Amino acid sequence: MFDNTEDSKTKLSELGEFGLIDHLTQHFKIKHPDSTLKGIGDDAAVIDHQHKTLVTTDFLVEGVHFDLSYMPLKHLGYKAVMVNLSDVYAMNAEAKQITVSIACSNRFTVEALEEIYAGITKAADLYNIDVIGGDTTSSVKGLQISITALGEAKEEDIAYRNGAKPNDLLVVTGDIGAAYLGLQILKREKEVFKVNPNSQPDLTEYTYLIERQLKPEARKDIPELLRKLEVKPTSMIDISDGLSSEIMHICKSSKVGANLYEDKIPLDPKVISTCEEFKLDSTTVALNGGEDYELLFTISQNDYEKIKANPHLTVIGHMVEEKEGIHLISRMNTKIPMQARGWNTVDEDE
Ligand code: ADP
Ligand code: MG
Repeated sequence: MFDNTEDSKTKLSELGEFGLIDHLTQHFKIKHPDSTLKGIGDDAAVIDHQHKTLVTTDFLVEGVHFDLSYMPLKHLGYKAVMVNLSDVYAMNAEAKQITVSIACSNRFTVEALEEIYAGITKAADLYNIDVIGGDTTSSVKGLQISITALGEAKEEDIAYRNGAKPNDLLVVTGDIGAAYLGLQILKREKEVFKVNPNSQPDLTEYTYLIERQLKPEARKDIPELLRKLEVKPTSMIDISDGLSSEIMHICKSSKVGANLYEDKIPLDPKVISTCEEFKLDSTTVALNGGEDYELLFTISQNDYEKIKANPHLTVIGHMVEEKEGIHLISRMNTKIPMQARGWNTVDEDE
């Protein structure tokens, strides 16, 4: 549990704003000197990309997007970077730089911010990202983190949501549904802890699910893989809100319909067994769960041979004419109209 009341910890006011920024950012080294001409330390960073620049921002607000009673601060820093990188990869681009803006109340200490930055640093190192700036300020209540990611891609490589055509194949990376179940496990344990603070939960059997929730990995490898396979997706999106709403986004932008085959949806065995334990329908979890940060894209049928043997990629359906609508083809071979019931974090605790 996050507890910051110990006297041994350093108050933010002891360092002051400039001291704090220095303390948190002094270790960042530039990894892309060709494109990061100036990083932290001036009024603005200076970037020189060879190709097109992509920009994306995500805001994470305590109590809305994360709960520090089960989200370790280091994981929070890591995840805040991942959700942004995922949006860059979802354009079939390479992520290069981030800025990090943090607002926090005086309930947080220097050590707490160090933890967040340990997660940010780990993510930046593993994903080869320059941290080029940000802002640090106080908030009346809680913690807010906003990260902006910059990416780069050749113009002809960029994949938008609006390029899917009828008969294109619908492909998903990895497996889905685990992050949602991880959250359910963590919430259940939080309730147990409230009743019995001495309980020592053994969550090892759910490690995969919990990691998918607390430590998602953005799919940096997929744009690289697609380039190697010489496949250009006709459309692409990342799965932050659940498979069904992402399919609907592609369909709406591309003015097409889709058939999704229930028996093709890739599920980890642990997702299947945990759905049985929680009496949840695994298809519903996969369709509506969210936060998997996998990629969903469409390809021309001509490219099928290039991707079919790849263990990271699963063909889960195909696109149809817009007037045919968006359907789930069930295991019983019935055609069920799909609903966009994404995953709205704001409603979670209502
Ligand atoms: P300014 O007054 O020009 O906004 P700041 O004192 O806020 O400058 O920031 C000084 C430098 O530190 C800038 O390069 C800024 O981008 C960077 N910076 C500030 N806060 C953060 C942070 N939380 N993470 C990374 N870099 C930061
Ligand atoms: Mg500033």
